[in-house]
Amino acid sequence: MKSVNSQGMKSAGQVLAGQRALITGANSGIGEGIAKSMAAAGATVVINYVRGPEDAARIVDEIKSRGGQALALEADVSREDQVQAMYRQMTDACGGIDILVNNAGMQKDAAFTDMSLADWELVIRVNLTGQFLCAREAARAFTRQGVIPEISSSAGKIICISSVHEAIPWAGHINYAASKGGVMMMMKTMAQELAARKIRVNSIAPGAIKTPINHDAWATPEKEAELLKLIPYGRVGEPDDIGRTAVWLASDQADYVTGATLYVDGGMMLYPGFRTGG
Ligand code: NAD
Repeated sequence: MKSVNSQGMKSAGQVLAGQRALITGANSGIGEGIAKSMAAAGATVVINYVRGPEDAARIVDEIKSRGGQALALEADVSREDQVQAMYRQMTDACGGIDILVNNAGMQKDAAFTDMSLADWELVIRVNLTGQFLCAREAARAFTRQGVIPEISSSAGKIICISSVHEAIPWAGHINYAASKGGVMMMMKTMAQELAARKIRVNSIAPGAIKTPINHDAWATPEKEAELLKLIPYGRVGEPDDIGRTAVWLASDQADYVTGATLYVDGGMMLYPGFRTGG
């Protein structure tokens, strides 16, 4: 699995050839899109899931039917024992890891004064602690492995899936916005600490992407029109928009990029309310 090709070169369009990628929460939405894009770019992808084994199996089959390599591994990213077991299973199956995409996430919304401690803790535990646990195991593995020049210029890449809500406050979603703000500072601190080991750490901050997590926001034409008022580019994003960005960020094309948040949001961060004055 470590070979690139007979010439030791990565063919065009296969910028992740020979690399092994773990994508958490990859049996749905953005994670599914990233897994398919990375597999098409030549990576062996591990589809992590916590619920819905049949969706994970379907995605593995789809990737394999297109000539890619994939397997599914179950783990709750907020549980240290399950995360460590998943890494052991991945090492047994793939020999190691080159790319982690910290994608698993959830919402449990409530007005601030109605937010229960249980819902606060659940979202922080999955969205922030889960990313910490998976990234720590990845960084340990990258450190042991070091740089393998025929695979990549770096020892490993971590991509955190954040949100525009790492920067935009969001009434009614205090736990979610706090978790993504935490991801931003965790990502930057990891990037600073791990750069000397040739480990790159970055975030992708999606705007509105059509997935089950925000189905209510685009389910009817009226709701989609309302959502589009926040998106200058005039369309709601698709998982593939994030998948293509993740492939680039994980590839050596982005070798000098670390500690960055890439907003992939159709301009949602451009204060669209000010288009008509202010
Ligand atoms: P989604 O609900 O389709 O996918 C979330 C995935 O995470 C699911 O597969 C779910 O089972 C998994 N997951 C939840 N808890 C888990 C756990 N404890 N362990 C392992 N997996 C777990 O939603 P999505 O939109 O694809 O979300 C993916 C990521 O993108 C999330 O981090 C989300 O915050 C972020 N995001 C999404 C949008 C958007 O508009 N869809 C915008 C910004 C950020």
